[in-house]
Amino acid sequence: MTTCWVPGADGSPYGVQTLPYGAFRRGGGEQRLGVRVGDLVLDLRGAEEADEILAGGALCAPTLDAFLAMGRAQWTTTRRRIVELLTEPEHQARIAPLLIPLSEVDLALPFTVGDYVDFYSSEQHASNVGQIFRPGQPLLTPNWRHLPIGYHGRAGTVVVSGTPIVRPYGQRRSSDGPVFGPSRRLDIEAEVGFVVGVPTELGERVPTGRFADHVFGVTLVNDWSARDIQAWEYQPLGPFLGKSFATSVSPWIVPLEALDHAWVPAPVQDPPVLDYLREDDRRGLDLAIVVEWNGTRVSEPPFAGMYWTPAQQLAHLTVNGASLRTGDLYASGTVSGVRRDQVGSFLELSWGGTEPIKLDDGSERTFLEDGDTVTITATAPGPDGSTIGFGDVTGTVTPAA
Ligand code: MN
Repeated sequence: MTTCWVPGADGSPYGVQTLPYGAFRRGGGEQRLGVRVGDLVLDLRGAEEADEILAGGALCAPTLDAFLAMGRAQWTTTRRRIVELLTEPEHQARIAPLLIPLSEVDLALPFTVGDYVDFYSSEQHASNVGQIFRPGQPLLTPNWRHLPIGYHGRAGTVVVSGTPIVRPYGQRRSSDGPVFGPSRRLDIEAEVGFVVGVPTELGERVPTGRFADHVFGVTLVNDWSARDIQAWEYQPLGPFLGKSFATSVSPWIVPLEALDHAWVPAPVQDPPVLDYLREDDRRGLDLAIVVEWNGTRVSEPPFAGMYWTPAQQLAHLTVNGASLRTGDLYASGTVSGVRRDQVGSFLELSWGGTEPIKLDDGSERTFLEDGDTVTITATAPGPDGSTIGFGDVTGTVTPAA
């Protein structure tokens, strides 16, 4: 096992096996790029300005955008160099001054979100929502096993973890016709997001085997959802204002290189999929997700069993020739396992609001109340028994303004 000279890094989920990228400000200063190691952040701008890392100046920028566009060879070279700097003792005296305690920084959204797409790739989630929203009908729509269903979301309202979530207004159905007001069924969706680095030309397709040429890394997503607004508006064109008011992401992007040990076989697909969705080696990521509601652990969604893989999602997203831009973000869809304590939304946890959940403080919930805080975290297996940490995506609901 590689030994890191940074105190507290070895044995933590943020040792050199992880090294997620983010952006930070210190004391109201300008935004800079960083890599987390232990409970510290390595100032990448400082490192590149001192010629400790060479990335063509991309790491001196306030966002990862230029670095994301550089591609796999540069990503891998840079990661190797950072590992060297943090493990070889001869670098310690020069690099230690570039490490800043996380407690002294504010974390920011580290990339410019291009387009945002959200999928619907958990069979269990889709089946649960089918039962709750369309009782008496087949659990899955006829297309569900043939393509990864998705929709285009709103990139401009993707916010970094910690951003307050203002309860949205909208229309909801009532027995007397539509009513306008603050959502009464505000919910979460625990998801995993994929950040595109290398763009494509209009008309180009990304086959399943080219996933790693384009996707830089992985981040946690909370796709906040107003179920009453969504249920009234979603047919026939899909989610709109019930989702677009805010989507939170973790401040850390875990690079794909950190996840080599986290891939597991994905479920066998039946019926077989069309050729462009076929994979020689079907793999999913073994992320263990945890959802906390006001500090109470309410669910542990398993990501490994997702029916559609991130490589299939990317292949489908581009099969019509739609181009990718650096910073495009696509999310898995709500992650739900088979058990009630494995679901990724409160719609499912409270079964459409009919079965309240008891929190540790004795209070009961069906959907989110003003002042509630939801935190989603995840870990994955790393090399040599180590753990990969994904940071957290958190948000507190504030009253409708
Ligand atoms: Mn979603």
